[in-house]
Amino acid sequence: MSTFKAPKGTYDLIPPQSAAFLAVREAIAAPLRSSGYGYIETPGFESVELFARGVGESTDIVTKEMYTLTTKGGSELALRPEGTASVLRAALEANLHKLGNLPVKLWYSGSYYRYERPQKGRYRHFSQVGAEAIGAEDPALDAELIILADQAYRSLGLRNFRILLNSLGDKECRPVYRTALQDFLRGLDLDEDTRRRIDINPLRVLDDKRDDVQKQLVGAPLLVDYLCDACRAYHDEVRALITAAGVVYEDDPRLVRGLDYYTRTTFEFVHDGLGAQSAVGGGGRYDGLSEMIGGPSLPSVGWALGVDRTVLALEAEGITLELPPATSVFAVPLGEEARRVLFATVTELRRKGVAADFSYGGRGLKSAMKSANRSGARYTVVAGERDLAEGVVQLKDMESGEQEAVALDAVVDKLRSLLA
Ligand code: ATP
Ligand code: MG
Repeated sequence: MSTFKAPKGTYDLIPPQSAAFLAVREAIAAPLRSSGYGYIETPGFESVELFARGVGESTDIVTKEMYTLTTKGGSELALRPEGTASVLRAALEANLHKLGNLPVKLWYSGSYYRYERPQKGRYRHFSQVGAEAIGAEDPALDAELIILADQAYRSLGLRNFRILLNSLGDKECRPVYRTALQDFLRGLDLDEDTRRRIDINPLRVLDDKRDDVQKQLVGAPLLVDYLCDACRAYHDEVRALITAAGVVYEDDPRLVRGLDYYTRTTFEFVHDGLGAQSAVGGGGRYDGLSEMIGGPSLPSVGWALGVDRTVLALEAEGITLELPPATSVFAVPLGEEARRVLFATVTELRRKGVAADFSYGGRGLKSAMKSANRSGARYTVVAGERDLAEGVVQLKDMESGEQEAVALDAVVDKLRSLLA
């Protein structure tokens, strides 16, 4: 142990567990990759102002959770707390929306930072894989994203998750609802902070997690009862498309994203084995966001799935991913000459695409074989001076335990055909 520890609210990803983490990332990305989404990577920090506008001045993320800093040059920056604002900023900056093939479909994967109260499933540094489809208003696009997230979770073997779905309406119908909700909320017994929220961001009050607040919200007006014809038709079409795909969801009329530029479709993936931090991912339409950050009108939809919580969800369901061993061949040299010869063999194997590793540090047979076992390699190649004098190495099948002498100059091809 050194003098230092990982900062509060963070943890290190360490082998062998890190392999599952990587596999989760890849499993979430795979359906996106094969559905026309291109990879995008943006900086780990952006101007504070981008998030203030793109996430929302009145959100917890912006008011409490952002890591902000002033550079030596005087710029106000923030470590990114989420992906959507950055991705949209980058797409606009590169004029992707002007290239004539809307929607622009992008996926990303990376680290995000929020100054939160750390607890299980809630960290100050966490990992998301996300997708954004920019510049099209089409219920099939909303449905596509929900179906792809479902596919990703199922490919990991997850079953105990639920998809909650709602519509937030649009410029037409939301203001009417907003007023009705404000009238209702003003009649409740709420603390001062929450009362202030009624004016700035009343929908967000519906998302309050406190029991005493939730109890009072039982009779609150619901957006579904206020949707205009266009929003209702749009939402019905999204639901019909998801249902036709065999994806099960639940209507949750209380599900909100509390900002004006979030519109229509909104959804959350929750896992029932995670306790308080049950949301594994969420997303929805944000038709007004582009304009909020100075771009043209670009109706868009996206989601972000949390990798950390998805890994916890796998644990909660008792799922161990079946990952192929990283190493196929492990070489154990006994003596100086064998070290040189087998090192060359390992190099050749690697160049020919066989995953191979080597016993370093001149260790004895017994301890080297332990490493060979731990590596998960299917074959071990052992050679000592006597073997080399005969021009052979010992090839051991770690599964059957059988061992045979193989000519040194034939061992690479032999291993390649055995592993093919
Ligand atoms: P919560 O309600 O749990 O705070 P959120 O609404 O802030 O979640 P989003 O901003 O929608 O979360 O982020 C999408 C996903 O990213 C979440 O569903 C979750 O899996 C993950 N996530 C968000 N914040 C954290 C965090 N602090 N630690 C770990 N994962 C997180
Ligand atoms: Mg949060």
